[in-house]
Amino acid sequence: MRRCRVCGSAIEPFMSFGPMPLANGFLRAEEFASEAFFDLEVAFCERCAMVQLTEPVPPELMFHEQYPFYTSGSTLMTAHFHRLAAEVAQSLAREPDAFVVEIGSNDGTLLQAFSSGGTRHLGVDPSRNVAEAARAKGVETLCRFFDEQAAREIVLEYGQADAIIACNCFCHVGDLHALAAGIRALLKPGGLLVFEDPYLGDIVRLTSYDQIYDEHAYYFSAGSVSAWLSPYGLEVIDAQPQAVHGGSMRYTVARKGVHPARAGVAALRAEESRMALQAPHTYSLFRRRIEQSREALRDLLTRLHQQGKRVAGYGATSKSTTILNYCGITPELIEYITDTTPLKQGKFSPGAHIPVRSPAAFHFDFPDCALLFAWNHAEEIGAKETAFRSAGGKWIRYVPRVTIE
Ligand SMILES: [Zn+2]
Repeated sequence: MRRCRVCGSAIEPFMSFGPMPLANGFLRAEEFASEAFFDLEVAFCERCAMVQLTEPVPPELMFHEQYPFYTSGSTLMTAHFHRLAAEVAQSLAREPDAFVVEIGSNDGTLLQAFSSGGTRHLGVDPSRNVAEAARAKGVETLCRFFDEQAAREIVLEYGQADAIIACNCFCHVGDLHALAAGIRALLKPGGLLVFEDPYLGDIVRLTSYDQIYDEHAYYFSAGSVSAWLSPYGLEVIDAQPQAVHGGSMRYTVARKGVHPARAGVAALRAEESRMALQAPHTYSLFRRRIEQSREALRDLLTRLHQQGKRVAGYGATSKSTTILNYCGITPELIEYITDTTPLKQGKFSPGAHIPVRSPAAFHFDFPDCALLFAWNHAEEIGAKETAFRSAGGKWIRYVPRVTIE
């Protein structure tokens, strides 16, 4: 029997995507034979409401010296992080000698706003390549996983933190208890934790099941976040929806009873009960919509192939790995995937083994259709690829439903 990794109750998966490779495991042809697969299954805990993978992949396999994702690669995310940094900086304005820690600081895009203003700061990230990129920007970075031991070492050297920030990081952390214990140790009595992650409510509402992949061990809601943090004396005092990553939530957390809760918390809890996010049947309906979405996408791609149309993928995202493998999409149906990340170009997509090519290849000879894997950046991409449209190119989308236009 499987156990909820937050509360220990028995859980059963509501959905199995079958064998999956590492979502970010872009590889060379000579590595095909040694590619590792695991069962991607997701479960809902009826007691604490946490939606989670039943068997998370060991973090060392995903976050290492070659982590292929750089925050600064997206201008939209960079602008988003600058706004968040400005908000946090404002809340710290009255703190003398404020200290800010970011967990999962990647290439230092967010903390740079603090380092350039001379604010005491520290980034923590286990992936060496991105940590080095952050240091090169003048962002102090500790290259390791964050847990209680790391928190104690940071407190010894710098003192407790006035603010802890984490963006798209906590959902990756396998051991939420080690994380919460670390936060409890690191946060000043009056300090604030601000974290953002893809929001379960949006994933269910949009059937954006491509958010479900190995790196996302948890799919948070206000209900499950409260259940997780409450035993550590922490409470959610604000929740604000964010448009990034196809729907994220920014939670502000403090020690219990220190700061009054703002209206955003009650509003979100009411919305979650309206959506029945705490009810098991919500997840059987979700599974049915996922299955229907797969059929529709497969039908469309097969039809286009029969008509002799050329289809390319747009954005070799981690998310695309779930779609490609769960839907059984082969290089016959999608000729290649175009992506701006040099580390991925010239390699193949995990599992499905579709070649990844540079944007130059896409622009040199436009395909008839492009399957938009980076759908959460649709606006940014649409503005950039007007020539594709003018050449008669069509975008295929699958969130919130399969469309071609
Ligand atoms: Zn639970």
